[in-house]
Amino acid sequence: MSLRQILIHPDPRLKAVADPVAEVDDTIRRLADDMLETMYDAPGIGLAAPQVGVGKRLLVMDCVKGEDEAPRPLVLINPQITWVSDEMNTYEEGCLSIPDQYAEVERPAVVDVTWTALDGTPQSERFDGLWATCVQHEIDHLDGKLFIDYLKPLRRQMITRKMQKLKRERART
Ligand SMILES: [Zn+2]
Repeated sequence: MSLRQILIHPDPRLKAVADPVAEVDDTIRRLADDMLETMYDAPGIGLAAPQVGVGKRLLVMDCVKGEDEAPRPLVLINPQITWVSDEMNTYEEGCLSIPDQYAEVERPAVVDVTWTALDGTPQSERFDGLWATCVQHEIDHLDGKLFIDYLKPLRRQMITRKMQKLKRERART
């Protein structure tokens, strides 16, 4: 396993629609392992393949919070939301591709998701709470959408300018 570099917004690769994974092969398994390691190292609770520069429909997440709770690493290949609740929920979201910026985003409180697991089997699960927010945030990444796209244009532009400045500073050092 190895750490992958996380792309920082703005980057055209974060705005592109990712391609479905045709086959779960060694390349995909290695990508999933690397992405889990990269996510835990960051640390973060979710990471989508486009964030490490791979335009494939694959994401990893683990929203277990408590330190004495067992971790629950999930790998979702070709995930699809099949049902959303009318009830909405607001969370203060952040993103590993937009470091240190947080904003409230409203999304459906409960969602049903189907996907392919790393062993190639079909899976489905109902997510609520932080898991529901996280899986919707990560699936958005597969469609080239960021949480700041839900914000008012002025706020979004402010955050984008901060990220451009951050990237310039990082490029100098
Ligand atoms: Zn994100």
